[in-house]
Amino acid sequence: MKYKIAVIPGDGIGPEVTGEAVRALEAVAASFGHQFTYEYVQAGGAAIDSCGECLPQATIEAAKAADAVLLGAVGGPKWDGLPGEERPEKALLRLRKELGLFANLRPALMFDELAEACPLKPEKVEGGLDLLVVRELTGGIYFGERGVRETADGPEAYDVERYSQKEIRRVAEIAFEMAMKRNRKVTSVDKANVLESSRLWRKTVAAVAERYPEVKLENLYVDNAAMQLVYNPKQFDVLVTSNIFGDILSDEASMITGSIGMLPSASLAEGAFGMYEPVHGSAPDIAGSGRANPMAAVLSAAMMLRYTFGLMAEAEAVEAAVKSVLAAGYRTPDIMTDGCIPATTLQIGTLIAERIAERK
Ligand code: NAD
Repeated sequence: MKYKIAVIPGDGIGPEVTGEAVRALEAVAASFGHQFTYEYVQAGGAAIDSCGECLPQATIEAAKAADAVLLGAVGGPKWDGLPGEERPEKALLRLRKELGLFANLRPALMFDELAEACPLKPEKVEGGLDLLVVRELTGGIYFGERGVRETADGPEAYDVERYSQKEIRRVAEIAFEMAMKRNRKVTSVDKANVLESSRLWRKTVAAVAERYPEVKLENLYVDNAAMQLVYNPKQFDVLVTSNIFGDILSDEASMITGSIGMLPSASLAEGAFGMYEPVHGSAPDIAGSGRANPMAAVLSAAMMLRYTFGLMAEAEAVEAAVKSVLAAGYRTPDIMTDGCIPATTLQIGTLIAERIAERK
């Protein structure tokens, strides 16, 4: 198979970790007989420095022309003084809108080898943890009408939460499709006891659920969901929720698994197109030092293989290679524990690529 990938390395450790993700993809290509081509384009601080804007038109066009996008991370102290609209991070919001990436998938998968990093009591996660947060990404309060108005009591600010049935339906469909390939349970999270938008959310999700009789649907209020995630995270399979609730709950779910350097994500559009990126930022504090953990980026590439290219065995080979490197005891500093073997970004990437090539 032939696929075209737009690579946006970004800033800080972005180029380092995407470099290792591309090496993993190349090992897959060689091992399974595929052909991946890469178009490198810029966004974030690197783009501001080279052409004065955080998301050049050429980047948008390259992303649209590709089958999938692999992104590192953007931002850093060098650009922190810029006004909000010009900051590197703005590139991400614009890319999501331009590419129609309406569903963000964040798996929280705990590797047995890293169980020590889990902040919960061992019995809460015994036997492993594997849940998936599906967050609506282009609607809701982050994109709603906003403003500040003067009142007799001083300024008053507002942000509007607004969801159409269509926006809710398409993200719910993604959640149910994912659940069909997993453990067939969807937990829809809302605040339907208070919010009108949540009542439409709940009604729409229920209608989608009728088309998936094999999948069990459960509804939780967001405050209860936040509590249940730390009280009994193993009850969850797929969680689906709005933009703002998903922003918060996906961070909470991911922290249960330990290091931020291990967490991949996918953002999907209609059809199979997707943008894949590690959850972490550009980590300017360790950029260029060889300390960055490339596993989140490599696992993001595995998600690309699975969700956009439909290459299941190839995705599993990448995930198995990561697991095998962990099992052999190699660790970047962020996941280091006693008795393990220190390794650099490049060394971890090399070990992963070797294992993919050997299909261990
Ligand atoms: P961060 O995720 O970059 O770093 C938080 C901490 O985690 C740091 O100590 C860092 O060294 C560590 N860390 C992160 N990724 C790691 C990895 N792969 N291996 C080892 N350690 C890792 O978050 P931050 O410090 O809040 O933000 C730094 C910059 O990144 C900011 O400019 C922020 O706006 C940007 N940011 C970008 C994205 C993105 O591009 N998607 C996401 C979050 C933050």
